[in-house]
Amino acid sequence: MVHDVVIVGGGIAGLSLARELTARGRAPVVLERANGVGGRCATRRVDGQPVDHGLSFLHGRSPAFLAAMAAARDQGAVSRWPRHRDGEGVPCQPQAFDPLDTRLAPAAGVNALAKHLAAGLDVRLGARVETLALGPASHLASDRVWTLTLTGGDQLRARTVALALPVPSMLTLLGTLSPPEAAIAPLLPLLRLIHVVPCLTVIARYPEGTPAPSWEASYPAQSTAVHAVLHDSSKRPGTPRLTLVIQGRPGFSQRHVDTPEAEWAQALLDEAATLHGDWVRTPDLRQPHRWRYARVAIGTELASPLVAHCEGGAVLGLAGDGLHATGGVEGAYLSGVALAARLTGSEPPRA
Ligand SMILES: Cc1cc2nc3c(=O)[nH]c(=O)nc-3n(C[C@H](O)[C@H](O)[C@H](O)COP(=O)(O)OP(=O)(O)OC[C@H]3O[C@@H](n4cnc5c(N)ncnc54)[C@H](O)[C@@H]3O)c2cc1C
Repeated sequence: MVHDVVIVGGGIAGLSLARELTARGRAPVVLERANGVGGRCATRRVDGQPVDHGLSFLHGRSPAFLAAMAAARDQGAVSRWPRHRDGEGVPCQPQAFDPLDTRLAPAAGVNALAKHLAAGLDVRLGARVETLALGPASHLASDRVWTLTLTGGDQLRARTVALALPVPSMLTLLGTLSPPEAAIAPLLPLLRLIHVVPCLTVIARYPEGTPAPSWEASYPAQSTAVHAVLHDSSKRPGTPRLTLVIQGRPGFSQRHVDTPEAEWAQALLDEAATLHGDWVRTPDLRQPHRWRYARVAIGTELASPLVAHCEGGAVLGLAGDGLHATGGVEGAYLSGVALAARLTGSEPPRA
């Protein structure tokens, strides 16, 4: 069977692309390597309590993204979170605090957005694509189709493939094409302009009775290790356990990304304790997470998604947070919407 469109990556870009294609009468299949959708729009449950350990709140201003955010809003969602900020540091997407942006923290976690987008789509979880190849559709045909090989050896064939991945993962997958494809070669230098930085994070949960800080997010200007400390439990209704998420700065994260996690996790806790008090140093539970490809350095995004029309009629589309001028989670969403318009030859949507 040859699929119409296969999308690699079930993050916000891949899901918005799949929804828009479905709305235009196409039949996309989404392949996601993880056991759940959302990618960096990630929520983990710690003893049943949601914790956002990637993106920490939804924010945006385009009507399309605001509509998606509104649909993901649940009972107990906190508008304009974080409302109480500490420190003079710069958040990773400073526009989030511009009065034009709307901010929202769903009570179930930011991943509620991904779950909402995925509803009704053909999403295949635990499906990691290892290689891409282009070959004839049949022995007689001159047209060509894509073959995607998954971990474990299963294969899917498709006329159009869209990669909705962090740019380094995109480049790795495109590097498996042998021989290289003439129509794709000019895109590679453009992709290499997009600079993706890592972020080491620690979820830290504290014993019952620990007094909660008054701030909801802290962006210290003076720390070289800690970029932000998010008071995650301030987003949760009821009586949640005090939980912080500590995010490392890009430079710190780059230096430690391949070192043992116990070392950098303690370094982040120590630094956060210096900033906010000794109690921060000793959580009763800690969970480090290494985001090797966390976010795109502001200003290195391309303006829009890319499309290559290969010989024999096969089409490649590229979307993701590096392929829309808006950047971040809203840029990821809008890149999927824009790529759907390109692939179906319809009008580009109004941003
Ligand atoms: C710590 C942190 C803080 C952030 N803070 C903010 C913020 O404040 N504001 C903001 O706007 N943005 C922020 N971001 C960035 C934001 O989360 C991303 O821009 C956005 O979620 C990217 O979506 P995406 O769909 O482009 O990529 P991703 O979410 O990375 O989705 C790609 C998907 O592809 C899957 N995948 C990868 N390789 C394969 C493969 N070979 N086969 C199949 N599937 C594969 C992955 O599992 C993933 O689900 C933050 C990110 C992190 C990590």
